[in-house]
Amino acid sequence: GSNLVFRSELEPGTFFAFIFAFFNVIEPSKSFSKAYYDIQKGLAAAERVNALLDEEDRVAEIPEPIIISAVQECISFEHVFFRYNEQEPFVVKDIDLKIPAGKVVAIVGASGSGKTTLVDLLNRFYDVSEGAICLDGHDIRQVSLKNLRSLMAIVSQEPFVVNDTIFNNITFGLAGVDRQDVIAAAKAAYAHDFIMQCEQGYETKVGDQGTRLSGGQRQRLTIARAILKDAPLLILDEATSSLDSESEQLVQQAIGTLIEGRTVIVIAHRLSTIQHADIIFVLKDGQLIETGEHGELMNLDGEYRKFVELQAF
Ligand code: ADP
Repeated sequence: GSNLVFRSELEPGTFFAFIFAFFNVIEPSKSFSKAYYDIQKGLAAAERVNALLDEEDRVAEIPEPIIISAVQECISFEHVFFRYNEQEPFVVKDIDLKIPAGKVVAIVGASGSGKTTLVDLLNRFYDVSEGAICLDGHDIRQVSLKNLRSLMAIVSQEPFVVNDTIFNNITFGLAGVDRQDVIAAAKAAYAHDFIMQCEQGYETKVGDQGTRLSGGQRQRLTIARAILKDAPLLILDEATSSLDSESEQLVQQAIGTLIEGRTVIVIAHRLSTIQHADIIFVLKDGQLIETGEHGELMNLDGEYRKFVELQAF
């Protein structure tokens, strides 16, 4: 273009007009290709969201479900059988047990013995294949799902943390929560101090799956969440992997606060927890083989004793 101008074959004004027009076209054409890219990205995301929306409910609610406000007597499993698929064998077989309200019970058994399945049935993530699970005599299939799940808090060994602020992670799933209550819950869960040490306190973003926090901190956040929820029934899936000893101690203290005054079901991996449980249920291949307190079961000289001696939780 400059050559043409120097050779007087092109008016300078025309040349500048061309350059001006050229630059004006670049941006919109870039937006075109970006828009195409965004549409593709959106379509891929929509596909995933739709798959989730189309997911069928595994459990159905009856037309007029009942509402219960608390479990006053017991949770009972009545001859419960369960299999994940019709074609597969039962993984829970004829489980018949009672969990009295206000007690701490431990479920113990080798990996794959059905501990997680049992608590998932209580949450109604799945429905029993045969038998029934009852809260104070009410079959949980008669209870409103929302109501049933509001009665339970779950603290699992894989802390569920989302990429949001610490505050929103503690209040996750709860609406209209008072800031003071969140702080009180964090204090009770021994999380307040480390939160205050973060640059933006409760407004600190925790990163994808909480990567900016240590394992112990993530666990204390989920414990704070459970304290805030204040559900009468607590399901605790104890971590198998150990944390560093300081975090470990804080997590144990936080759990100590959390279990006070609640009915607690622990999928237990620590001897100290198991020893302190009011009742221990020992599972093997989906069956309940022994029930009792630590001392009783040790005297029984059966599977439980073998477990303890081999430290095989
Ligand atoms: P535990 O918690 O004691 O390790 P689980 O309840 O996870 O035991 O598993 C009990 C049995 O159920 C195992 O044999 C396991 O392979 C099977 N199982 C667990 N989850 C599923 C699933 N989603 N689909 C099919 N089988 C499963």
